[in-house]
Amino acid sequence: MKAEIIAVGSELLLGQITNTNAQFISEKLAEIGIDVHFQTVVGDNPDRLDEVIGIAKKRADVLVFTGGLGPTKDDMTKETIVKHIGSTLVSDEEALFTIQQYFEKSGRVMTENNKKQALVFKDAIVLPNRNGMAPGMAVEKDGIQYVLLPGPPHEMQPMFTNFAIPYLLGVTGRKEVISSRVLKFYGIGEAELEYRIQPILEKQTNPTIAPLASAEGVTLRITAKAESLDEANKLIAPVEGEIRAIVGEYVFGVDDDTLSSKAAEMLFQNGWTIAAAESLTSGLFMAELGKEPGIGVSLEGGVVVYNEQAKVDQLEVDQGLLDEFGIVSSECAAALAVSVKRKFGSSIGVGLTGAAGPEPHDGTPVGTVWIGIVSDDAEMETYKLSLSGSRNANRRRAAFFAIYYLIKHMEKKEAKKMF
Ligand code: ATP
Ligand code: MG
Repeated sequence: MKAEIIAVGSELLLGQITNTNAQFISEKLAEIGIDVHFQTVVGDNPDRLDEVIGIAKKRADVLVFTGGLGPTKDDMTKETIVKHIGSTLVSDEEALFTIQQYFEKSGRVMTENNKKQALVFKDAIVLPNRNGMAPGMAVEKDGIQYVLLPGPPHEMQPMFTNFAIPYLLGVTGRKEVISSRVLKFYGIGEAELEYRIQPILEKQTNPTIAPLASAEGVTLRITAKAESLDEANKLIAPVEGEIRAIVGEYVFGVDDDTLSSKAAEMLFQNGWTIAAAESLTSGLFMAELGKEPGIGVSLEGGVVVYNEQAKVDQLEVDQGLLDEFGIVSSECAAALAVSVKRKFGSSIGVGLTGAAGPEPHDGTPVGTVWIGIVSDDAEMETYKLSLSGSRNANRRRAAFFAIYYLIKHMEKKEAKKMF
């Protein structure tokens, strides 16, 4: 089966919004083995949409439309397609009920044009909209599948996953479910990761393994297809095990975990508290942890001690130590961690110091960073980074690395607790 995605909306052509719906739908169709051969964008114009449908019909078996199902005049996707396939529009009771309820709940008056949203092709299967008012539709005509979806991504995505995918699986005659497991890595580049698990990557067909790099590290998505969720997960588990056996030290989380959410979860679960003293990151480490709801239970506080004097005056870092080893040193990172832990009475202390750039610091090369982590019942750990980015990329990466090392530090503490 070949598909064409047709995104309808003049805002897309004007460059006001990005066509993320096409990306989402393409990814999902690939997962169920439907090849997307074309992605088309057309404005809110019935003649041009009609022209696009005419072309798409000749080169695809599945036409997936997004946008233009709403109540306003420029929303004319349904009205154009219904003419094209020679069907009629009827009011769908369930959809009308949903719309009425929506207005009742919000205490707003329902205007007549809103009823238009409940109109569906008389021969279509209705795809319920759990996050909005306009339902979607799926209908077959002359061997071509027409799938209509709303424009707003938060309405379109669940509708597509929960209703359009099962419909299309039924059409393709496949009884397949898909399960994915995402492994999250930090501290290893995409190229090195791929290289190290090359033998596993090469032999995989089901599950498939897809690497993706982002600012917050690299992810591997392991996706399996099987007749049931249970069987799909059974295909994933051994592959995950093989990957962890090789590069498990860089794994910090799974699925929706982020560095900060994982660190927060571990702090909460163990009842540990944390404080940080930051120099080059000047608060970025704290800001990352601060993203997490409820972090106040675990995050005691922190200080930014940017210059040498502040380190001495605010955190009583020994001047002699700084003279001997310099600000960008293992010794300074350790002293910051110890001192801030003591000041805040936390169970974990983190110190960050480094030369962010663009100029070297007292002969220390740009990108040199030291991170110190100390906690109750654990020895001081210091880590050196040699980063090669711009000033602000280095600062961000230093903060992310500190959270990654914090997670690894806590993993060791958890393991010790178990024995
Ligand atoms: P509504 O009931 O909100 O009018 P609709 O189905 O009529 O929904 P549109 O009017 O075409 O959809 O688009 C509504 C909003 O949805 C757009 O302003 C945009 O924010 C988002 N949107 C539409 N199409 C896309 C797309 N292809 N990719 C990402 N977002 C989109
Ligand atoms: Mg609209």
